[in-house]
Amino acid sequence: MAGEPQADCLFCKIVSGEVPATVVRETPTTLAFRDINPQAPTHVLVIPKVHYPDAATLAGAEPGVAADLLREAAEVAAMDKIDASGFRIVFNTGAGAGQTVFHTHAHVLGGRGLQWPPG
Ligand code: IMP
Repeated sequence: MAGEPQADCLFCKIVSGEVPATVVRETPTTLAFRDINPQAPTHVLVIPKVHYPDAATLAGAEPGVAADLLREAAEVAAMDKIDASGFRIVFNTGAGAGQTVFHTHAHVLGGRGLQWPPG
């Protein structure tokens, strides 16, 4: 069922504690943890605890939780003190855009200069 944990989903396993992660923030609806392969001094993933495959699907089904993700992304930036210098929130959506884990996640990136357009 939509939103239910998926047995084969890595990030559902991080939510349940089955797979360890370096968790930096948690709310009733979200979890934030450091990316295992960081692309910047700050590289944190903010995920909903409910399972939806991508940001667009989450926003359609549970817009309040989608808003929680954005709020938490800003909290992560403040926590790592990258909010003043600027940071990036990225939702890769679909394999063609580089999405590899199909459980919605916001990348929060900062702590170095970021180029535009991204690769
Ligand atoms: P995507 O390519 O936008 O789907 O991002 C998936 C991200 O998950 C990548 O940046 C990976 O480095 C990251 N990742 C994969 N496995 C783990 C893990 O076990 N812990 C933390 N981050 C992970």
